[in-house]
Parts: sequence; C-alpha cells; structure tokens
Amino acid sequence: MIYIIMGGPATGKGTRSTFLSKELGIPHIATGAMLREEAINDEKLAKLLKTGKLVSDDLINKILYKRLKKEDCKNGFILDGYPRKIEQVYALEAMMRKLNMEITEVIELVISRELAFRRILERRECPNCKKQYGIDFPPKDGKNCDACGTELITRADDNEETLAKRIKIYEEESEPILDYYRKKGILKTVDSSCNPEKVVDIL
Ligand code: AMP
Repeated sequence: MIYIIMGGPATGKGTRSTFLSKELGIPHIATGAMLREEAINDEKLAKLLKTGKLVSDDLINKILYKRLKKEDCKNGFILDGYPRKIEQVYALEAMMRKLNMEITEVIELVISRELAFRRILERRECPNCKKQYGIDFPPKDGKNCDACGTELITRADDNEETLAKRIKIYEEESEPILDYYRKKGILKTVDSSCNPEKVVDIL
C-alpha cells in the first residue's frame, strides 16, 4: 500500500495523510516536515525553506531513501510532499525498484486559490508536538496547543508572498507529474475544500 498525496499548499495533505496513516497502519512521510527538522541544525537550509524554493533533488532524495529503507515502511507508506517535480518521479521509480515496491495510487487534493490563502494565513503550528491548527480547527483557548499546552507559532513560510510563490511552483511543477501518473492510470483527483478534520474517504 503506497499512496502519494499531491496538492498545492493548504489542500489538507498533512491532515488527510495523518488520518490515512492511522486508518491503514502505515507511516506518513512528509518531506516538508523532515526538512524543517533538518533545518533546526542547518541555518542555510532554514533560510532556503523560508524562501519557499525547492531544495536540491540530491538532498531530498538522500533523506527520503534513508527513510523508506526503514523497517516500518515495509508494508507501505503515505508520501506527502514528494515528488514535487518530474525528476523526482523518476528518482522515486528507481527507489521503488530497489526496494521491490510499487505505487498503489496517487491522490490529488484540490481547493480554490481563495481558500488556500484563507487557510494558510490562519494556520498555526505547535513548535513542540507539531500539531497544526487553522480556520477549520482552531485551538480551544485561541493560542496554545490543545495537546501539550505550548504557545502556537506561525510557520516562517506561511506569509502571502511566499504562498503566492509556492502556489505558482506547485502549478508549474505538478503538471507533468500529474500527467505522468494519469497516463499510468493511477491518478485520482479529490475535492478537498471541506474541513480536512472531517474524515473523508479519499481512497
Ligand atoms: P511543505 O511542508 O510540503 O509545504 O514543504 C515545505 C518546504 O520544504 C517547501 O517549500 C520546499 O522548500 C521544501 N520541500 C518539501 N518537499 C520537497 C521536495 N520533494 N523537493 C524539494 N523541496 C521540498
């Protein structure tokens, strides 16, 4: 069971992947979260992430392959944030061959541009346990994490300018990827505009 969840910023990739991960009992692998983790000890990477530009294929491929080789991925995984460009599609195919695995389905989540802006500009994250909050799921007291009580922060890349850039990058880069998987017959498009905390069967 290998699912790739695609979608521009704020389409609910993270939330829906987390639900699926629990439902199917396979890990949720989010490349953005892995990179933010790496960036804690890497100032240069932290600066690059702030710009909204993609990191190099070499770096992300290395980090991802190391993760996919782990024991907990042997029954499958949910990939969120990768592949982001056609070169990464080919890199993933090579990884799959080496691991003797096959992609089950690619699910693209779609929302309007206006909703993407509203969701992003309201988004908050817990710096401790990484739980996310937003317009559809605000914290109970308005500012602290429901789970661990830590004060919530805005992600450094969640601002209007960076968001516009990220949407543009997504539209340009995803087109050939979606095309590739469409031709393979494993692409499914799902409307993701309802509250992503609501369980929706996207499989
Ligand atoms: P995300 O949390 O998926 O929005 O990712 C946050 C940032 O991490 C992106 O804006 C990119 O800078 C970087 N990133 C995440 N996944 C990839 C990837 N597959 N290739 C290159 N950069 C990535």
